[in-house]
Formats: sequence, C-alpha cells, structure tokens
Amino acid sequence: MRSRQLLSGDKPDHMHLAARMIQSGGLVAFPTETVYGLGADALNPDAVEKIFAAKKRPAFDPLIIHIAELETLMSLVMIDLQHRALLMALVESFWPGPLTLVLPRRSVIPDVVTAGLPTVAIRMPAHPIALALIREAGTPIAAPSANPFGYVSPTAAHHVVEGLGDHVDLILDGGACSLGVESTIISFANGSPRLLRAGSLPVEDLEEIIGPILRHGFDEAWPLSPGQLARHYATRTPLYLLPTSEAIPRFVPSEQNGLLAFAPPRRQDLYTAVEILSPTGNVQEAAHNFFAALRRLDGQGLTQLWAEPCSEDGIGMAIMDRLRRCAVQKVNSHYPEKD
Ligand code: AMP
Ligand code: MG
Repeated sequence: MRSRQLLSGDKPDHMHLAARMIQSGGLVAFPTETVYGLGADALNPDAVEKIFAAKKRPAFDPLIIHIAELETLMSLVMIDLQHRALLMALVESFWPGPLTLVLPRRSVIPDVVTAGLPTVAIRMPAHPIALALIREAGTPIAAPSANPFGYVSPTAAHHVVEGLGDHVDLILDGGACSLGVESTIISFANGSPRLLRAGSLPVEDLEEIIGPILRHGFDEAWPLSPGQLARHYATRTPLYLLPTSEAIPRFVPSEQNGLLAFAPPRRQDLYTAVEILSPTGNVQEAAHNFFAALRRLDGQGLTQLWAEPCSEDGIGMAIMDRLRRCAVQKVNSHYPEKD
C-alpha cells in the first residue's frame, strides 16, 4: 500500500480528504471503539458494492449502517408505536456505543446494503474519528469490519493495511480500538427483542433496561442473521479450543504450538509462543487484546494454536462466540488428549 493512504485521523485536513473520498464513492477505513470499519456512502449502491468486492464478502451478508445523529435513524427505519419506548430507552442508554439495532428499513436504503432483507442494521459508534467522518461526509456510512471476509477482525490501522492493502482508498489511523470486539446486535424485526450477535455490550446490561432478550443457537439464528457463519474470525493456522483453562494438549514433539491464554498458564514452557490476554484476569482487557493477539500467533508459522476458554459472563460471551467460530473443531469433539 502507498503510505499516503494511511493518514492520522486526528488532523482536520485528513478528515476532510476522507469525507470527500466517501462523498465521491470511495472506500475509507476508519477506527471505531469496537474494530476498524471499511466504510462507504450507505446511500450509494456502487460505493457499497466496492466493500463487498474488497473484502470478498458474499452478497448475502448485510452491512451495518453507521450514523452520527439520532434524526438519521428515523430517516432510515420504521419504528412502530409498540416498540418506540423500548428502542428509545436503549438508544438513550447505549448510543453512541457498541449496540447495533436491526429494524424494518425504509426504501431510501439500497438493497445491496441489506442483502435484500426488509430490515437494516444501524449503529452510532462511540469514536470521535468515526463520528467526525460521518458528520463531515454528510451521509450515513455502511461499514463491516475492515478485513478480508472470514479472517480475524482488525483492531489497529496496520491490520487493515496487512489485510486489504490497495483495496482501500484511504485509512484513518486512530490507534488501537478501545473495546476490541464487535458490537452486540439486537433485532426488533419480529416482535420481541432478539440477540443476533453477542458483542462488546453485555446482554445483561441491555436486559437491565428492556427486560428479557431472546437468544438463539446458531442454527436457529441463521435465517435471521445471515452473516453469523459457523466458521468466522478464523486464523490461517488451525486453532483448537481447549475444554478447560487447565487442560494440557498432547503434542507431537516436532510441532510448533501456540497458546492463547487468559491469564499466565501453568505450562508456558510447552509452547513455542504464548499470548496472555490479561495478566490480571480482567475480561475487558482480554477483549481489547483478543484479535491482535490472535493475529500475532497466526503470523508465526506455527503448526497449530490452542485457546483457553473464558467465563461467558459479560463481554466473555462475545469472546467465546468468536473463539468457537475461529476454532476448526468445537469443544470436546476433537480434543487430542486421550488417556
Ligand atoms: P460485520 O461484518 O462484522 O459488520 O457484521 C455485520 C453483521 O450484522 C452481519 O454478519 C449480519 O449477521 C448482521 N446484520 C446486518 N444487517 C442485518 C439485518 N438486516 N438482519 C440481520 N442481521 C444483520
Ligand atoms: Mg466482520
């Protein structure tokens, strides 16, 4: 990638350039508090097509539209009276922030954004660079994570350079993403609120405001959330999920093994490389470090990776969701330790 495409996002001149790029149908990668997004003008179908081409993303997988003002929400979706109060309570409590809402859409949104669905996913990100870009471009921005489809999500500008390179017109660098895991997606499409994707905002926090939220197994969720594939966020090196954090897999001695650990492991000496997500056992810190640590392990030419599970409370639910999709086998089904 040419270095002039990577610009620091806090300079007004760079923001101006990026906004012009969006307005003229180009692709701009930008930081959010969750992960880096690959953005295009959500109301320009040709620009949105470029996102799918750059990521090699299948056309059935709809995009999230990012907005900076509440009024924009009303221009993009239809909210029935029955859900209005619930929605407003959520928006007041959690926007801007890592909460995506799926709602019936208005016709102003091109079909390519929603993969032809009658609903659209909307979020207001809590990152000054993201908000400034949307405001200065003067249009809502459709943006999935700025990585090739199916690979580990980007939480730093250099991850975008490595993954998408010349396929992006411009990258705004805002440093490392503070949260590090994607938004929580809640659908209001079919009556009661449903969780479509676990994310940075704990479901427990949402339920405190609006009461019980329906949850799905993967198979059930498929028709509702087409992008939630069983294998996703995946490293190129095969990764196995350990059944417990104490479990020690058996290796062939010649193999090069990597470990993704939440806290300092019992047998660090067994592995060629170890990433510790939070030395103090803080799940928020683990989420912040998660995707970057996976990328570092994946970049070392190891034979295989092993990942410890974490508790599914709070943001831990989102981490475990990503680990299960990244793993080549599910917990217990292909664990090589046999006694
Ligand atoms: P990402 O690619 O990480 O931005 O993920 C966006 C996810 O949002 C997709 O994988 C979809 O599962 C989900 N999504 C977007 N729009 C819709 C929609 N209209 N209905 C259901 N899920 C949606
Ligand atoms: Mg993604």
